[in-house]
Amino acid sequence: MLIVQKFGGTSVGDLDRIQNVANRVSKCKKAGNDVVVVVSAMSGETNKLVGYAEHFSSTPSRADMDMLLSSGERVTASLLSIALNEMGHEAVAMTGRKAGIVTNMHHTKARIEVINPDAMKKEIKSGKIIVIAGFQGVNENGDVTTLGRGGSDLSAVAIAGALKADLCEIYTDVNGIYTTDPRIEPRAKKLDYISYDEMLELASLGAKVLQSRSVEMAKKLNVNLVTRSSFSDEEGTLITKEENIMEAPLVSGIALDRNQARISLVGVKDRPGIASDIFNKLATNDINIDMIIQTKAYDGSTSIDFTVPVSDIEDAKNIVDCFIKTGEIKSDSYNENICKVSVVGVGMKSHTGVAALAFSTMAKNNININMISTSEIKVSMIIDEKYAELAVRGLHASYELDK
Ligand code: ADP
Ligand code: ASP
Ligand code: MG
Repeated sequence: MLIVQKFGGTSVGDLDRIQNVANRVSKCKKAGNDVVVVVSAMSGETNKLVGYAEHFSSTPSRADMDMLLSSGERVTASLLSIALNEMGHEAVAMTGRKAGIVTNMHHTKARIEVINPDAMKKEIKSGKIIVIAGFQGVNENGDVTTLGRGGSDLSAVAIAGALKADLCEIYTDVNGIYTTDPRIEPRAKKLDYISYDEMLELASLGAKVLQSRSVEMAKKLNVNLVTRSSFSDEEGTLITKEENIMEAPLVSGIALDRNQARISLVGVKDRPGIASDIFNKLATNDINIDMIIQTKAYDGSTSIDFTVPVSDIEDAKNIVDCFIKTGEIKSDSYNENICKVSVVGVGMKSHTGVAALAFSTMAKNNININMISTSEIKVSMIIDEKYAELAVRGLHASYELDK
């Protein structure tokens, strides 16, 4: 079998853990498999590098940030390769560029355009274990790019797709995908299976156990994805097609996203095309908008409220300022002390009352709901951040996910 194994930050968090990873990889190789390893930076390393940059500037160039941030993964890839060679294996470390990962030009949030797997295939054919620095690629100018935070998951899935691997294993610090973050609700249950669509919702709604774009890619390329722990031999969670799952539960999980901020625009000129102007400007600057509410005021103007990731708030402010200068928006305000809790499940498609139960759970816990959005398989609510954990535990109990 050809297996891609990805090890996240905690799994390579110190030198002993890198040795532990080397032992796992070695075992897989000795069992007769071809092994391609993708690694993250040591845990905390990427944040540390971001902190270093912030010491000098609040607006560093994105190209410089990519040069800086991509270095963390090179450290772990080379150390793991050194450890494997020392154990008698033939291993080779590769940057994203060497692995043939070509991205678009969007520094810090680049999308993979193509993978040229020839260099990887050549090394695999000669029996080597390849260890690839995750989270990075190269654009057509030859500059290093990064794939957005948590992007090593995407590297692994894309590589598994390009190599037509039999399996892609994502090793992390929990035993698999749980009904909610087990660090918030210790009664959370590990799932044996979850569909791509549900996992995609959970991931894009804040369950950082997998980067959402990696799940999207796994679905598109039909990659068999397993999430499991690098610290135990327990079986993980298989992420697969909905039709492979015999009986889907009504609700499969609760997600929490603390990295949301709310932007409120007051006195927005009520004319055709204003929403298009504002949101197009935000989109061309790569700002991800989530919930949007528009209401009409008595004076004929409108108010628009929307949410963005906290990391995009400075960029969003600059764009809103342009509209304030031209007089099309009267004033703006920002609230970073919010969070989004979401209930996810494909069973919602065919059942009623799921949203009502979410709202009554908030009511029972005296939590005010600021914004609501729903889709076929999720209900999301924006609430004050101080109630985040209370809301997650309340919902987990209401939908009987601990049973
Ligand atoms: P890695 O460094 O291996 O990429 P991450 O920290 O990105 O790991 O993701 C693993 C973490 O995701 C877990 O430690 C857990 O706290 C969190 N998490 C959030 N939601 C879930 C969930 N539904 N199931 C499992 N883990 C979750
Ligand atoms: N090191 C990067 C991050 O912390 C990528 C990853 O770990 O997946 O975001
Ligand atoms: Mg991660």
